[in-house]
Amino acid sequence: MLRTTEMDPKFKYEISKTPGSEKLMLCFQCGTCTADCPIARFTDSYRPRKLVRMVQLGLKDRALSDDSIWLCTSCFTCVDHCPQDVGTAEVVRALRNLAVKERPMPRVYKELSSAIRKTGYAYEIPQLRLRQREEKGLPPLPKGDVESVRKLFKATSFSKTIEEEEE
Ligand code: SF4
Ligand code: SF4
Repeated sequence: MLRTTEMDPKFKYEISKTPGSEKLMLCFQCGTCTADCPIARFTDSYRPRKLVRMVQLGLKDRALSDDSIWLCTSCFTCVDHCPQDVGTAEVVRALRNLAVKERPMPRVYKELSSAIRKTGYAYEIPQLRLRQREEKGLPPLPKGDVESVRKLFKATSFSKTIEEEEE
């Protein structure tokens, strides 16, 4: 059920400030994004079309507390297929950016971010895997540019978002 008291008429403007989300009001709810989304194919709880509608209607609290926003893989299929050039994936990104200001991000994202900060890779590659590469005569993996990553995390205050001390 929708209540007008839930609706924040400024919310759509707040989200459309994010580059790529400017056209969100052009969405006419055709459903192409949901039909083509690889995540929506596997779960009923993720519907990008509905998220865009929530933003249009100003359902800020609902949209920001919807855990499904973290399911998007940013594959950009929806962006490529949207007939209105809405930039659905960017709308989801904008929702995540606002959501982390109010509550912690899911642990898995923190862990991935932390690994990028420490190694330059999203996953810490186990020593065993590295030894196996060597034994098979494969060249060593390139080193991640940890210094640049740390500078970026510091400049954007992302370390605070993932609750890690800056070095
Ligand atoms: S494909 Fe575009 S226009 Fe259609 S529902 Fe999704 S965002 Fe809206
Ligand atoms: S970017 Fe996100 S919402 Fe768009 S198709 Fe990919 S997983 Fe679905």
